[in-house]
Amino acid sequence: MQALLSAFRERFPGEAPIVVRAPGRVNLIGEHTDYNDGYVLPIAIERDIRFACRSRADRRVRLWSVNFNTDSEFELDQIELDPANPWSNYVRGVAAMLLREGLSLRGMDAAIEGNIPVASGLSSSAAMEIAAATAFQAVSGFRLDPARMALLAQRAEHEFMGVRVGIMDQFISRLGQQGHALLIDCRTLEYRAIPIPEAEYLFVVADSRQSRELAASAYNERRAQCEAAARLFQKELPDVRALRDVTSAEFRRHSARLPLTVARRARHVVHEDERVLEAVAALENADLKRFGALMNDSHESLRFDYEVSSEALDVLVAAARQVEGCLGSRLTGAGFGGCTVSLVHQDAVDAFRRHVSAVYQAFAGKEPYIYVTRASAGAGVLA
Ligand code: ADP
Ligand code: MG
Repeated sequence: MQALLSAFRERFPGEAPIVVRAPGRVNLIGEHTDYNDGYVLPIAIERDIRFACRSRADRRVRLWSVNFNTDSEFELDQIELDPANPWSNYVRGVAAMLLREGLSLRGMDAAIEGNIPVASGLSSSAAMEIAAATAFQAVSGFRLDPARMALLAQRAEHEFMGVRVGIMDQFISRLGQQGHALLIDCRTLEYRAIPIPEAEYLFVVADSRQSRELAASAYNERRAQCEAAARLFQKELPDVRALRDVTSAEFRRHSARLPLTVARRARHVVHEDERVLEAVAALENADLKRFGALMNDSHESLRFDYEVSSEALDVLVAAARQVEGCLGSRLTGAGFGGCTVSLVHQDAVDAFRRHVSAVYQAFAGKEPYIYVTRASAGAGVLA
């Protein structure tokens, strides 16, 4: 924070800035459900991206990146990509979407700094977008519904970065609440904050640091299989638009008409949606043991039915479950590398670090990166 403020002062002398932040996220349960119109349950993490920002009298936007130690500038009336500074394109894209929404933006000077590891599965990109939108809002003073902001940020990523992400990351970065997970219905975009009981439990993210080369093609294949499954269920159940609409009882009754692999993919999605709702009930009943067991079930389903785990993720999960005080562990994100998330008692976090690091080191020849977090607040202005 000190580095951010002094960078701002040095680059943009004058009045003190407003500081806004937007967090990264980790999904607790509900994997590969989003594109099946289903449920997800992420938390905002304690790592974030901050903008120290001040409005300008003209329409210029001047950006300084503390992390990249470089600047980038543009005019609000002529927004183009800056190929030399891809980090600035998140700000450009968001500005373009806010303007397209009809909001009046002011120019600004902003210094930007973050501590979310990039491309590790904690969604630093969504944090960039939501932090940028929050900065423009803070200096311009327009009103914007939070869910609408998330949708505009998602659209910026689609149109400016060419990445077709779901809505979860921007939603949780904007709408997260301290001590709460966010249940999001990816079909209706209805959402509900779910209090996480027992503050002595923490979420521990372990980054496998594994390349995710297979992820993109496998992702597309899984999506196609899910769509095929939904079409086949539709022949018996005309109301089915996506796998979200199939219950586990219906799955049992009708899955025989599906090819074996497609049936296993569908079985994951159908049960994962039900697990998310059960996980919400577990939180509401203050039953973290049950919640952890559902995390474990989710991993097994992703591993054996959806087949998006990897040896490295399985090693991390197995090691995590050996730690007393760890209630559950699973891969999080699309799979094929990336991170695991585990629910761990605060007194067991040190043992967790030691054990999981040692086991993974022996397997992979490198230690995992480990991040410990509670559910943090979504984006906002810092006092
Ligand atoms: P992730 O999985 O973390 O979202 P992406 O590749 O989607 O990975 O987005 C990462 C990009 O977001 C970075 O390459 C950079 O352009 C931008 N970014 C992330 N953190 C920062 C930061 N602190 N400052 C500026 N840009 C950032
Ligand atoms: Mg991203």
